[in-house]
Amino acid sequence: MRRFILVTAMCALTLPLFAQQAPSSSAVIHAGRLLAVPGESDLRDQTIVIENGRITAVENGFLSADEAGVPGASMLDLRDQTVMPGLMDMHTHVTGERDPYANPHDWTTKLDGDVLVESLAFLERTLMAGFTTVRNVGANFEIILPLKRGVESGHIPGPRIIAAAGGITPTGGHGERQGYRPDILEAVDNSVGVCNGADDCRRAARALVKRGADLIKITATGGVLSNTAAGVGQQLMDDELEAIVEAASSMGRKVAAHAHQADGINAALRAGVASIEHGSYADDESVRLFNETGAYLVPTLLAGVYLLEEMEINTQIPPPVLDKINAVVPEMRNAFQRALAGGVNIAFGTDSGVSPHGTNAREFEIMVGYGMEPIVAIRSATVMASRLIDRDHDLGTIEEGKIADIVAVSGDPMSNISAMHNVVFVMKDGHVFRQP
Ligand SMILES: [Zn+2]
Repeated sequence: MRRFILVTAMCALTLPLFAQQAPSSSAVIHAGRLLAVPGESDLRDQTIVIENGRITAVENGFLSADEAGVPGASMLDLRDQTVMPGLMDMHTHVTGERDPYANPHDWTTKLDGDVLVESLAFLERTLMAGFTTVRNVGANFEIILPLKRGVESGHIPGPRIIAAAGGITPTGGHGERQGYRPDILEAVDNSVGVCNGADDCRRAARALVKRGADLIKITATGGVLSNTAAGVGQQLMDDELEAIVEAASSMGRKVAAHAHQADGINAALRAGVASIEHGSYADDESVRLFNETGAYLVPTLLAGVYLLEEMEINTQIPPPVLDKINAVVPEMRNAFQRALAGGVNIAFGTDSGVSPHGTNAREFEIMVGYGMEPIVAIRSATVMASRLIDRDHDLGTIEEGKIADIVAVSGDPMSNISAMHNVVFVMKDGHVFRQP
């Protein structure tokens, strides 16, 4: 039943979409209000010129296609909207989604192909919500890499995917499946990223790069949703963390470290990771280390808020997971506010897949509710995110030479951040996927 609904919804969305992907290689956008570089002052009445998937000019006033030097270009009227760079979510799991009503063991019946087909709808919802790039930090590489390539080739609508393609965890750690009979766990164990000791963890990092990982995701501490009463403290040891970062950077890859308790956050920062995911118990020493190393916090506040909501309706959450939700989630607000006050680099990330795909903008509301300025929250999902993934040369702002990833919302998100839910226009790589 659930699969039928998903597929139906997907077809309804997909057919008009591809029709909208017009062959026209040039376009002119009239933007009433433009956040060209979120964080800098906004502009009024601007013309954005797009040719062959790139932004070739941003001009004052509303120019015609002829005046803009692109006769015959398609004209896109966003004079009543707030236009901004395509949004970027630095922590997603686009190959799955929690369902509080589903059988928690239904993963045992699914083939990779089933998961891939379900993912198509998740990708489409994410794109339609204005997210044109995601950093996917944990998925089976045999599923995420074909999805990434499918998006790149234009065969499926979805955000550009920066893929971790698996992750590194110690034996019994957060990244391993837990809570089943040993022989079942052995049968489903994906051992590539499971490592113990510095040498073995170097091997794991290199093996993931070999398989196609754009970045290396590690579980530096325990995690909330693994079915084990192993806590959320440091799990990868200092020498293992250092070995992973060294091996990854020697192959041009950054490391994203899932970490909740401060011991693991701080050890990962000392080892030189590029980002801390969640950072739920970040302390003053964490703030100092973030600022010393330039690492980013990816707060994923929505995951915490969503799990508190899910607890109200899901009667099947195992006791160790319930305990960890109750212990960790209340800490996330304090840690976020400490990082914000301390001037830490913050990049937007939702952990979508925990929460439903396409509701990513809720993270903006939570960030602002916890004290972040709306424009700083938008900056975290554009400028800051593009820097975290080393793509600030071609993503993250609306400027000449950049890739034409452009979205628009109705309303004014600076006075009401909930307007970020009202995405009415989505362009990625110069292709229009959604129009008012
Ligand atoms: Zn996650």
